[in-house]
Amino acid sequence: MKLKKKKIEDRKVNKDEGKYTPDSDSMIQVFNLSKVYQMGEFEVRALDGVNMKISKGEFVSVMGPSGSGKTTLLNMIGALDNPSNGAVFVNRINVAHMDDEQQTNLRLRSIGFIFQFYNLVPVLTAYENVELPMVFAEEPEENRRKKAIKFLELVGLERQMDHLPAELSGGEQQRVAIARSLANGPSLVIADEPTGELDTKMGREIVNILQDLNKELNQTILMVTHDPAIGKLAERLLRMRDGKIVDEIKL
Ligand code: ADP
Ligand code: MG
Repeated sequence: MKLKKKKIEDRKVNKDEGKYTPDSDSMIQVFNLSKVYQMGEFEVRALDGVNMKISKGEFVSVMGPSGSGKTTLLNMIGALDNPSNGAVFVNRINVAHMDDEQQTNLRLRSIGFIFQFYNLVPVLTAYENVELPMVFAEEPEENRRKKAIKFLELVGLERQMDHLPAELSGGEQQRVAIARSLANGPSLVIADEPTGELDTKMGREIVNILQDLNKELNQTILMVTHDPAIGKLAERLLRMRDGKIVDEIKL
């Protein structure tokens, strides 16, 4: 009870969040977003007044030097952390206004996450890794099976579905992670350096799959990368520096 009360008070500190209205076509809209981490007596301003909008169906990449705030931005959008100031809307809903259950649901059902190090469960097969989010979502077993196979086929891994992650190459593991991100039919996929551990050829294959998802399933995709050749494959590129978006390029 005490914990809960503190949380609500924490959110009240963010005075800005009531005054923003997202556009009707926005998948993600961020207003005046700041994030300050307190490190002992030092403050780290990881995000410093970010404004941006990603429309439904867009494929956008974010580039910028290490430490420029890219991961922090994704964490705010994915409700993995709360902003210090400003507001984040996903599907036109203010993420900071959600209670814990709504945030959990957002992460489980509305957003697919893809990480640099794949984050697969090592003791589960490719099939079981893809099935897992559907188990959490209490999907009936028959549906889980159909969908897991469909998404593994989509990434070209139907033949390896009984392999453990350690029995797959890096590129194959990331393809499993992509299939898993789609499990509960998210409207948005966010990927943090998804090709960071892969060679150029495998990296391109991964982005080609993301491009297909964007075109064929109309998935909105937000991808962070530090590889210019990969960043250019999106439709629009945002550049970050020192916690700010400093440039935008239509590709
Ligand atoms: P990028 O993903 O662009 O490399 P990050 O978003 O990870 O950058 O980090 C932005 C800045 O915030 C960096 O200076 C980093 O050290 C700092 N930072 C990130 N997360 C934390 C945290 N949990 N606690 C303290 N500082 C953090
Ligand atoms: Mg990062």
